[in-house]
Amino acid sequence: MTKPFVIAIDGPSASGKGVTSRRLAQMLGLLTVDTGAMYRTLAWHCLRMKVDVTDDKKVAALCRKWKTSLVVQDGQVRLLVDGYFPEKEIRTAEASAAVAHVAQVRFVRDWMKAKQRECIQFGSCVMEGRDIGSNVFPETDYKFFLDASPEVRKRRRERDGVQEDVHARDKRDSQRAHSPLMPSLGALVIDNSHQVVQETCDLMLEEINARRKANRLVPLKPVA
Ligand code: C5P
Repeated sequence: MTKPFVIAIDGPSASGKGVTSRRLAQMLGLLTVDTGAMYRTLAWHCLRMKVDVTDDKKVAALCRKWKTSLVVQDGQVRLLVDGYFPEKEIRTAEASAAVAHVAQVRFVRDWMKAKQRECIQFGSCVMEGRDIGSNVFPETDYKFFLDASPEVRKRRRERDGVQEDVHARDKRDSQRAHSPLMPSLGALVIDNSHQVVQETCDLMLEEINARRKANRLVPLKPVA
């Protein structure tokens, strides 16, 4: 059996990471991990427990005693809180505003990294986030950084009905001290402003297989 591997997809908000990860995983029969959802779940939990998200110590203390589990549901590895996946709750404007605060706490990042590394116990994954190639799975050969022009990203957010100032969140994510958002060494940077999702996935698969060939590994073949 082949050793489980990770395809790391990083990039800013509205760079198409989510939809691209899901399509690529479906094409290759792999699991997906939305690490942003994991950070959002903690932000939501802080709000629910009335913990001030700008207080690093309180956020770390809450994270430390969190009761969570990882499960596979609908082809995705999810973080459950007390057995529950807060799918809608983590997408509110309030959770979106809170998440970049909790995501810059050192303890939280270390905790999330350990959890995200545990995900491959379920099999090979397409994992999307901000620091997957640079920090969570730096050893993977398959690293991508997706980006799109500010105008295209703004249009995508408007189309999704998102009111949030994503620019402020991207800035916070890029300037934080621990694992800031940036293309990692060895990542293929793809500007998908003028690509449809399938084009991006085809390009990624081509790159993955070129890297596999260089390592004398059999190519990955689409199953869907
Ligand atoms: O991808 P999404 O927009 O859901 O991510 C929400 C937030 O979670 C990001 O703005 C960032 O602050 C944080 N995040 C992170 N590292 C990751 C994934 C998400 O810091 N790997």
